[in-house]
Amino acid sequence: MTKDTKVFYVSEKLESAPLDEAAKILSQGGTVAFPTETVYGLGANALDEKAVMQIFEAKGRPADNPLIVHVTSRDDCESLVRAIPEKASLLMDKFWPGPLTIIMERKEIVPDVTTGGLDTVAIRVPENKIAIELIKRSGKPLAAPSANLSGKPSPTSAEHVIADLSGRIDAVVDGGDVIIGLESTVVDVTSEIPAILRPGKISKEELEECIGEVKVAYDDKVHPESETVRSPGMKYTHYSPKAGVILVEGDNEAVVCRIKELLEDLHMRNAKAGLMLTEESKKHFSGVESFSIGCKDKPEQAAKSLFYGLRFLDLKNVDIIIVDGSFDPRGIGAAVFNRVRKAADMIIKVR
Ligand code: AMP
Ligand code: MG
Repeated sequence: MTKDTKVFYVSEKLESAPLDEAAKILSQGGTVAFPTETVYGLGANALDEKAVMQIFEAKGRPADNPLIVHVTSRDDCESLVRAIPEKASLLMDKFWPGPLTIIMERKEIVPDVTTGGLDTVAIRVPENKIAIELIKRSGKPLAAPSANLSGKPSPTSAEHVIADLSGRIDAVVDGGDVIIGLESTVVDVTSEIPAILRPGKISKEELEECIGEVKVAYDDKVHPESETVRSPGMKYTHYSPKAGVILVEGDNEAVVCRIKELLEDLHMRNAKAGLMLTEESKKHFSGVESFSIGCKDKPEQAAKSLFYGLRFLDLKNVDIIIVDGSFDPRGIGAAVFNRVRKAADMIIKVR
Protein backbone atom coordinates (compact mmCIF):
# COMPACT_ATOMS: atom_id res chain seq x y z
CA MET A 1 0.00 0.00 0.00
CA THR A 2 1.72 3.17 -1.14
CA LYS A 3 -0.51 6.13 -1.73
CA ASP A 4 0.46 9.65 -2.59
CA THR A 5 -0.94 11.27 0.56
CA LYS A 6 -2.03 14.84 -0.18
CA VAL A 7 -1.88 17.54 2.51
CA PHE A 8 -4.54 20.29 2.49
CA TYR A 9 -4.14 23.31 4.75
CA VAL A 10 -7.36 24.76 6.15
CA SER A 11 -7.52 27.59 8.68
CA GLU A 12 -10.36 29.02 10.74
CA LYS A 13 -11.39 30.89 7.60
CA LEU A 14 -12.51 27.55 6.16
CA GLU A 15 -10.94 27.99 2.71
CA SER A 16 -13.27 26.46 0.14
CA ALA A 17 -10.85 25.01 -2.42
CA PRO A 18 -8.95 22.57 -0.16
CA LEU A 19 -12.15 21.62 1.69
CA ASP A 20 -13.88 20.82 -1.59
CA GLU A 21 -10.97 18.72 -2.81
CA ALA A 22 -10.84 16.75 0.43
CA ALA A 23 -14.64 16.32 0.42
CA LYS A 24 -14.50 15.04 -3.16
CA ILE A 25 -12.00 12.33 -2.17
CA LEU A 26 -14.38 11.28 0.62
CA SER A 27 -17.48 11.23 -1.57
CA GLN A 28 -15.61 9.08 -4.10
CA GLY A 29 -14.75 6.45 -1.50
CA GLY A 30 -11.29 7.63 -0.35
CA THR A 31 -9.75 8.14 3.10
CA VAL A 32 -9.04 11.60 4.53
CA ALA A 33 -7.71 12.46 8.00
CA PHE A 34 -9.12 15.64 9.52
CA PRO A 35 -9.10 17.53 12.81
CA THR A 36 -11.89 17.32 15.35
CA GLU A 37 -11.93 18.99 18.76
CA THR A 38 -10.90 15.68 20.42
CA VAL A 39 -8.15 14.16 18.22
CA TYR A 40 -7.53 13.83 14.45
CA GLY A 41 -9.88 11.30 12.84
CA LEU A 42 -9.36 9.14 9.76
CA GLY A 43 -12.56 9.55 7.76
CA ALA A 44 -14.31 7.55 5.05
CA ASN A 45 -17.93 7.26 3.90
CA ALA A 46 -19.52 5.21 6.71
CA LEU A 47 -22.09 3.70 4.34
CA ASP A 48 -19.54 2.49 1.76
CA GLU A 49 -18.14 -0.88 2.77
CA LYS A 50 -15.05 -0.64 0.58
CA ALA A 51 -14.23 2.86 1.78
CA VAL A 52 -14.53 1.80 5.43
CA MET A 53 -12.33 -1.24 4.83
CA GLN A 54 -9.56 1.11 3.77
CA ILE A 55 -9.65 2.70 7.24
CA PHE A 56 -9.04 -0.68 8.90
CA GLU A 57 -6.27 -1.46 6.43
CA ALA A 58 -4.51 1.90 6.82
CA LYS A 59 -4.59 1.75 10.63
CA GLY A 60 -3.98 -1.99 10.98
CA ARG A 61 -7.11 -1.96 13.15
CA PRO A 62 -8.74 -5.26 14.20
CA ALA A 63 -11.93 -5.75 12.17
CA ASP A 64 -14.16 -6.29 15.22
CA ASN A 65 -13.35 -2.86 16.67
CA PRO A 66 -16.22 -0.65 15.47
CA LEU A 67 -15.96 2.95 14.30
CA ILE A 68 -17.62 6.18 15.37
CA VAL A 69 -19.80 7.75 12.68
CA HIS A 70 -19.59 11.54 12.47
CA VAL A 71 -22.61 13.53 11.28
CA THR A 72 -23.56 17.21 11.27
CA SER A 73 -26.87 17.09 13.10
CA ARG A 74 -29.44 15.07 14.92
CA ASP A 75 -31.43 14.89 11.66
CA ASP A 76 -28.54 13.08 9.92
CA CYS A 77 -28.59 10.69 12.81
CA GLU A 78 -32.21 9.68 12.22
CA SER A 79 -31.39 7.96 8.94
CA LEU A 80 -28.81 5.74 10.69
CA VAL A 81 -30.64 4.57 13.83
CA ARG A 82 -33.93 2.74 14.46
CA ALA A 83 -35.09 5.25 17.02
CA ILE A 84 -33.63 7.95 19.19
CA PRO A 85 -34.31 6.98 22.82
CA GLU A 86 -35.51 9.76 25.14
CA LYS A 87 -32.23 9.81 27.07
CA ALA A 88 -30.21 10.01 23.85
CA SER A 89 -32.35 12.93 22.81
CA LEU A 90 -31.63 14.78 26.06
CA LEU A 91 -27.89 14.11 25.66
CA MET A 92 -27.91 15.40 22.07
CA ASP A 93 -29.66 18.60 23.12
CA LYS A 94 -27.17 19.21 25.88
CA PHE A 95 -23.82 18.01 24.48
CA TRP A 96 -23.99 18.13 20.66
CA PRO A 97 -22.04 19.40 18.88
CA GLY A 98 -19.28 18.18 21.18
CA PRO A 99 -17.10 15.34 22.50
CA LEU A 100 -19.88 12.84 23.27
CA THR A 101 -20.45 9.65 21.25
CA ILE A 102 -23.84 7.98 21.67
CA ILE A 103 -24.45 4.30 20.91
CA MET A 104 -27.90 3.44 19.55
CA GLU A 105 -29.53 0.61 17.60
CA ARG A 106 -28.54 0.83 13.95
CA LYS A 107 -30.61 0.70 10.78
CA GLU A 108 -29.68 -1.85 8.07
CA ILE A 109 -28.21 0.92 5.94
CA VAL A 110 -25.12 1.01 8.21
CA PRO A 111 -22.85 -1.80 7.01
CA ASP A 112 -21.41 -4.49 9.31
CA VAL A 113 -17.87 -3.37 8.62
CA THR A 114 -18.61 0.02 10.23
CA THR A 115 -20.13 -1.48 13.40
CA GLY A 116 -17.83 -4.49 13.72
CA GLY A 117 -20.91 -6.66 13.10
CA LEU A 118 -22.84 -5.20 16.07
CA ASP A 119 -26.52 -4.23 15.95
CA THR A 120 -25.60 -0.84 17.34
CA VAL A 121 -23.85 2.18 15.88
CA ALA A 122 -21.76 4.86 17.61
CA ILE A 123 -22.57 8.43 16.50
CA ARG A 124 -21.21 11.89 17.24
CA VAL A 125 -21.66 15.46 16.00
CA PRO A 126 -18.24 17.11 16.29
CA GLU A 127 -17.84 20.76 17.18
CA ASN A 128 -14.77 21.45 15.05
CA LYS A 129 -15.88 23.63 12.10
CA ILE A 130 -13.47 22.00 9.64
CA ALA A 131 -14.88 18.57 10.50
CA ILE A 132 -18.46 19.81 10.08
CA GLU A 133 -17.65 21.46 6.72
CA LEU A 134 -16.04 18.27 5.43
CA ILE A 135 -19.02 16.12 6.38
CA LYS A 136 -21.40 18.65 4.80
CA ARG A 137 -19.43 19.03 1.59
CA SER A 138 -18.89 15.27 1.18
CA GLY A 139 -22.61 14.71 1.72
CA LYS A 140 -21.85 11.49 3.66
CA PRO A 141 -21.79 10.38 7.27
CA LEU A 142 -18.08 9.84 8.00
CA ALA A 143 -16.76 6.86 9.93
CA ALA A 144 -13.66 8.24 11.65
CA PRO A 145 -11.56 6.49 14.27
CA SER A 146 -8.45 8.22 15.59
CA ALA A 147 -5.99 8.73 12.71
CA ASN A 148 -3.07 6.78 14.18
CA LEU A 149 -1.61 3.33 13.55
CA SER A 150 -3.57 0.92 15.73
CA GLY A 151 -2.07 0.72 19.24
CA LYS A 152 -0.20 4.06 19.01
CA PRO A 153 -1.07 7.27 20.86
CA SER A 154 -3.91 9.17 19.17
CA PRO A 155 -2.83 12.09 16.94
CA THR A 156 -3.35 15.63 18.17
CA SER A 157 -1.70 17.32 15.16
CA ALA A 158 -1.47 16.74 11.40
CA GLU A 159 2.26 15.96 11.88
CA HIS A 160 1.31 12.97 14.06
CA VAL A 161 -1.06 11.71 11.37
CA ILE A 162 1.62 12.06 8.70
CA ALA A 163 4.19 10.27 10.87
CA ASP A 164 1.85 7.25 11.21
CA LEU A 165 -0.17 7.15 8.00
CA SER A 166 1.71 8.90 5.18
CA GLY A 167 1.51 6.65 2.11
CA ARG A 168 -1.40 4.71 3.63
CA ILE A 169 -4.25 7.22 3.19
CA ASP A 170 -5.41 9.55 0.42
CA ALA A 171 -5.14 12.89 2.23
CA VAL A 172 -4.76 14.85 5.45
CA VAL A 173 -6.52 18.12 6.20
CA ASP A 174 -4.12 20.09 8.39
CA GLY A 175 -6.18 22.36 10.62
CA GLY A 176 -3.60 22.86 13.38
CA ASP A 177 -3.49 21.34 16.86
CA VAL A 178 -6.64 19.96 18.44
CA ILE A 179 -8.25 21.61 21.47
CA ILE A 180 -9.13 18.75 23.84
CA GLY A 181 -6.48 16.12 23.06
CA LEU A 182 -8.36 13.01 24.24
CA GLU A 183 -11.04 11.00 22.42
CA SER A 184 -14.78 11.51 23.06
CA THR A 185 -16.76 10.10 25.98
CA VAL A 186 -18.66 7.03 24.69
CA VAL A 187 -22.08 6.33 26.23
CA ASP A 188 -24.35 3.40 25.40
CA VAL A 189 -28.04 4.24 25.75
CA THR A 190 -29.39 0.87 24.58
CA SER A 191 -29.61 -0.53 28.10
CA GLU A 192 -32.08 0.49 30.84
CA ILE A 193 -29.32 2.34 32.68
CA PRO A 194 -26.98 4.01 30.18
CA ALA A 195 -23.33 2.95 30.41
CA ILE A 196 -20.09 4.88 29.88
CA LEU A 197 -17.87 2.68 27.71
CA ARG A 198 -15.01 5.19 27.50
CA PRO A 199 -14.37 8.24 29.71
CA GLY A 200 -13.66 11.60 28.06
CA LYS A 201 -14.07 15.32 28.60
CA ILE A 202 -17.76 14.96 29.43
CA SER A 203 -17.77 13.39 32.88
CA LYS A 204 -20.10 10.90 34.57
CA GLU A 205 -21.41 13.72 36.77
CA GLU A 206 -22.30 15.87 33.76
CA LEU A 207 -24.09 12.95 32.10
CA GLU A 208 -26.00 12.14 35.30
CA GLU A 209 -27.09 15.72 35.70
CA CYS A 210 -28.70 15.41 32.27
CA ILE A 211 -30.24 11.89 32.27
CA GLY A 212 -30.04 10.48 35.81
CA GLU A 213 -28.13 7.33 36.78
CA VAL A 214 -25.30 6.24 34.50
CA LYS A 215 -23.11 3.13 34.95
CA VAL A 216 -19.36 2.94 34.45
CA ALA A 217 -18.64 0.04 32.10
CA TYR A 218 -14.99 0.64 31.31
CA ASP A 219 -11.95 -0.78 32.96
CA ASP A 220 -8.82 1.26 33.46
CA LYS A 221 -6.60 -1.73 32.85
CA VAL A 222 -6.80 -4.31 30.09
CA HIS A 223 -8.00 -7.76 31.15
CA PRO A 224 -7.76 -10.00 28.10
CA GLU A 225 -9.34 -12.85 30.05
CA SER A 226 -12.45 -10.80 30.85
CA GLU A 227 -15.63 -12.08 29.26
CA THR A 228 -17.53 -8.86 29.63
CA VAL A 229 -15.98 -6.68 26.97
CA ARG A 230 -18.79 -4.24 26.23
CA SER A 231 -16.97 -1.99 23.83
CA PRO A 232 -14.75 -4.02 21.52
CA GLY A 233 -12.06 -1.36 21.67
CA MET A 234 -11.57 -2.10 25.36
CA LYS A 235 -9.64 -5.31 24.84
CA TYR A 236 -6.77 -4.05 22.69
CA THR A 237 -3.44 -2.46 23.50
CA HIS A 238 -3.80 1.28 23.32
CA TYR A 239 -1.88 4.52 23.21
CA SER A 240 1.53 2.81 23.37
CA PRO A 241 4.64 4.68 22.32
CA LYS A 242 7.81 2.75 21.37
CA ALA A 243 9.29 3.42 24.80
CA GLY A 244 8.09 1.55 27.89
CA VAL A 245 5.76 3.62 30.09
CA ILE A 246 5.80 3.80 33.91
CA LEU A 247 3.01 5.72 35.63
CA VAL A 248 3.64 6.93 39.19
CA GLU A 249 0.37 7.89 40.91
CA GLY A 250 -0.03 9.74 44.20
CA ASP A 251 0.63 13.04 45.98
CA ASN A 252 3.09 15.33 44.29
CA GLU A 253 5.86 15.07 46.89
CA ALA A 254 5.77 11.27 47.06
CA VAL A 255 5.64 11.01 43.28
CA VAL A 256 8.73 13.23 42.92
CA CYS A 257 10.63 11.03 45.41
CA ARG A 258 9.73 7.84 43.61
CA ILE A 259 10.60 9.25 40.19
CA LYS A 260 14.05 10.19 41.55
CA GLU A 261 14.56 6.59 42.72
CA LEU A 262 13.42 5.24 39.38
CA LEU A 263 15.82 7.56 37.55
CA GLU A 264 18.77 6.31 39.63
CA ASP A 265 17.80 2.76 38.89
CA LEU A 266 17.45 3.40 35.15
CA HIS A 267 20.76 5.28 35.13
CA MET A 268 22.55 2.25 36.61
CA ARG A 269 21.11 0.11 33.85
CA ASN A 270 22.17 2.60 31.19
CA ALA A 271 18.57 3.14 30.15
CA LYS A 272 17.56 6.58 28.88
CA ALA A 273 14.53 8.05 30.62
CA GLY A 274 12.09 10.74 29.54
CA LEU A 275 9.76 12.45 31.99
CA MET A 276 6.25 13.79 31.66
CA LEU A 277 6.01 16.15 34.59
CA THR A 278 3.52 18.52 36.18
CA GLU A 279 4.66 22.14 36.50
CA GLU A 280 4.98 21.57 40.27
CA SER A 281 7.43 18.68 39.79
CA LYS A 282 9.58 20.26 37.08
CA LYS A 283 11.89 22.15 39.43
CA HIS A 284 13.06 18.90 41.02
CA PHE A 285 14.53 17.54 37.82
CA SER A 286 17.22 18.91 35.57
CA GLY A 287 19.36 17.37 32.88
CA VAL A 288 16.66 14.81 32.06
CA GLU A 289 14.61 14.91 28.86
CA SER A 290 11.21 16.13 29.99
CA PHE A 291 7.85 17.39 28.84
CA SER A 292 5.32 19.45 30.79
CA ILE A 293 1.77 18.19 31.32
CA GLY A 294 0.73 21.44 32.99
CA CYS A 295 -0.30 22.38 36.53
CA LYS A 296 -1.49 19.50 38.66
CA ASP A 297 -4.85 21.10 39.36
CA LYS A 298 -5.52 21.68 35.64
CA PRO A 299 -6.14 18.19 34.23
CA GLU A 300 -7.40 19.71 30.97
CA GLN A 301 -3.76 20.67 30.29
CA ALA A 302 -2.68 17.08 30.93
CA ALA A 303 -5.43 15.93 28.52
CA LYS A 304 -4.17 18.23 25.81
CA SER A 305 -0.52 17.28 26.20
CA LEU A 306 -0.62 13.56 27.03
CA PHE A 307 -0.55 12.03 23.53
CA TYR A 308 1.60 14.89 22.25
CA GLY A 309 4.15 14.27 25.02
CA LEU A 310 4.29 10.50 24.50
CA ARG A 311 5.08 11.05 20.83
CA PHE A 312 7.53 13.89 21.60
CA LEU A 313 9.57 11.73 24.00
CA ASP A 314 9.49 8.78 21.59
CA LEU A 315 11.18 11.02 19.02
CA LYS A 316 13.93 11.69 21.60
CA ASN A 317 14.58 7.93 21.57
CA VAL A 318 14.14 7.39 25.28
CA ASP A 319 13.83 3.81 26.54
CA ILE A 320 11.36 4.54 29.34
CA ILE A 321 8.82 7.32 29.76
CA ILE A 322 7.89 8.07 33.38
CA VAL A 323 4.56 9.86 33.80
CA ASP A 324 3.97 12.03 36.86
CA GLY A 325 0.49 10.97 38.01
CA SER A 326 -0.01 13.66 40.64
CA PHE A 327 -2.57 15.67 38.67
CA ASP A 328 -6.22 16.03 39.67
CA PRO A 329 -8.14 12.82 38.85
CA ARG A 330 -11.51 14.55 38.73
CA GLY A 331 -13.42 15.69 35.64
CA ILE A 332 -11.35 15.13 32.50
CA GLY A 333 -8.54 13.96 34.84
CA ALA A 334 -10.39 10.61 35.08
CA ALA A 335 -10.11 10.24 31.30
CA VAL A 336 -6.41 11.16 31.35
CA PHE A 337 -5.71 8.52 34.00
CA ASN A 338 -7.69 5.99 31.95
CA ARG A 339 -5.50 6.61 28.88
CA VAL A 340 -2.17 6.63 30.75
CA ARG A 341 -3.04 3.46 32.65
CA LYS A 342 -3.80 1.76 29.36
CA ALA A 343 -0.53 2.98 27.88
CA ALA A 344 1.47 1.97 30.99
CA ASP A 345 3.58 -1.16 31.29
CA MET A 346 3.87 -0.53 35.02
CA ILE A 347 1.72 1.45 37.45
CA ILE A 348 3.20 2.47 40.81
CA LYS A 349 0.97 3.95 43.53
CA VAL A 350 2.71 5.98 46.23
CA ARG A 351 1.54 7.97 49.22
P1 AMP B 1 -11.71 5.32 18.11
O1 AMP B 1 -12.61 5.77 17.03
O2 AMP B 1 -10.42 4.74 17.67
O3 AMP B 1 -11.55 6.42 19.10
O4 AMP B 1 -12.52 4.16 18.85
C1 AMP B 1 -13.92 4.15 18.92
C2 AMP B 1 -14.37 3.52 20.21
O5 AMP B 1 -15.81 3.40 20.24
C3 AMP B 1 -13.81 2.14 20.40
O6 AMP B 1 -13.48 1.95 21.75
C4 AMP B 1 -14.97 1.25 19.96
O7 AMP B 1 -14.90 -0.03 20.49
C5 AMP B 1 -16.17 2.06 20.49
N1 AMP B 1 -17.39 1.74 19.73
C6 AMP B 1 -17.71 2.14 18.50
N2 AMP B 1 -18.90 1.63 18.11
C7 AMP B 1 -19.36 0.90 19.14
C8 AMP B 1 -20.53 0.11 19.36
N3 AMP B 1 -21.47 -0.01 18.44
N4 AMP B 1 -20.65 -0.51 20.56
C9 AMP B 1 -19.70 -0.39 21.50
N5 AMP B 1 -18.56 0.33 21.36
C10 AMP B 1 -18.38 0.97 20.19
MG1 MG C 1 -8.39 5.12 18.54
